[in-house]
Amino acid sequence: MVGGGIIGCALAAFLAEDGMRVRLYERDEIAAGASGRNSGLLQHPMDEELTAVFAASEALYGELGHGFELPAEPIGVLVVSESEAALEPARADLAARFPELRAEALDPATLHEAEPALAEGLGAFLLDTGLPVPPAAATQAFAARARAAGAELLEGAAASPVVKGGRATGVRTSAGIDPAGAVVVAAGPWTSALVDPTGAWRPIGALWGVNVELRLAEPPRHSLEEAGIKDLPHATSGLDPLFSLVTRGGLSALGSTFLPEQPEPTEVAPALVERGTRFVPALAGTHVVSVRACARPMSTDGRPLLGPLPEVGGLFVAAGHGPWGISLGPGSARLVADAILGRTVVIPAELATARFGLSG
Ligand SMILES: Cc1cc2nc3c(=O)[nH]c(=O)nc-3n(C[C@H](O)[C@H](O)[C@H](O)COP(=O)(O)OP(=O)(O)OC[C@H]3O[C@@H](n4cnc5c(N)ncnc54)[C@H](O)[C@@H]3O)c2cc1C
Repeated sequence: MVGGGIIGCALAAFLAEDGMRVRLYERDEIAAGASGRNSGLLQHPMDEELTAVFAASEALYGELGHGFELPAEPIGVLVVSESEAALEPARADLAARFPELRAEALDPATLHEAEPALAEGLGAFLLDTGLPVPPAAATQAFAARARAAGAELLEGAAASPVVKGGRATGVRTSAGIDPAGAVVVAAGPWTSALVDPTGAWRPIGALWGVNVELRLAEPPRHSLEEAGIKDLPHATSGLDPLFSLVTRGGLSALGSTFLPEQPEPTEVAPALVERGTRFVPALAGTHVVSVRACARPMSTDGRPLLGPLPEVGGLFVAAGHGPWGISLGPGSARLVADAILGRTVVIPAELATARFGLSG
């Protein structure tokens, strides 16, 4: 296993529990990437191809243990916009496609009562989803579960797949070659370069996000999200920041940027606070606890790459979850683990690694 984020750690746990000898290489430390620095919301992905993986993930979180606690009830996601007219088509679309989200338009009075922290004059609709968890909690719990099942998790240890005669035969590390019957690359945004060092195969790139952590005196009751995040994979231009605010245990994570290059978080933070103030005025002047940046592993079609790479025997990919990796990670990992274990498993064509052929 290459990569100790949510995907790699969940896979390591599932495979070790099924009797495989598992060694996970993490070049930094467990949850060093987005899996430890995200906004911490388990949320419906608003994509038909991903809803089954999300449902599976929720069930797997419910039985995760190892210090992980799944909140009993969703807090609700309020999708907000300064342009009220643009909201209704988006709400109606979600209501038709995902009735389980109970997308509900809120009139100004109801909105003010439901969420007094919001600025006047905004439009909003409410979605029945959103379970806040500490950013690194799920990954750390899966890492603990993997270790308990006998997996070896090596930190500070970079690795890359070794391919000979069209087959992955192990990984190369600073200590030499470690042979393996199968290699999984779950290295988030760095996956493409590890699978194909020539640079020709690039279905996954990095989209950097900055989060600002603050402690509001009266934090919002819901998770807040500016309309537009679900259109991210299809955005052809305008990677402007989108406002989001997720509160858990009194600490709010204010987001976020969508940048192709790694930003200096402290330089970006003031613009995020300024933008956030348009939605939640109390953000102005609130003491900033910390700022952090991390990279979303963004695939070119916005969906993860799961399962074997057909051109290379024994080489599996589990990456490309973009803004939804915490919400989808365990379900994705279960699918890939079952494929590695040789179980009858159908990875939907829309999520299969094979849709991005190495040769094409
Ligand atoms: C600002 C922000 C907020 C987000 N909020 C949410 C949210 O609220 N809810 C949600 O569902 N998702 C959220 N996400 C998305 C989510 O965090 C990611 O999709 C998810 O963490 C990706 O997990 P991963 O395991 O694929 O990759 P990563 O977490 O990136 O893990 C990959 C690991 O591979 C390691 N690695 C790389 N190269 C090597 C190598 N050669 N050898 C060994 N190890 C290597 C890296 O060090 C890293 O630890 C957010 C993302 C961002 C950026």
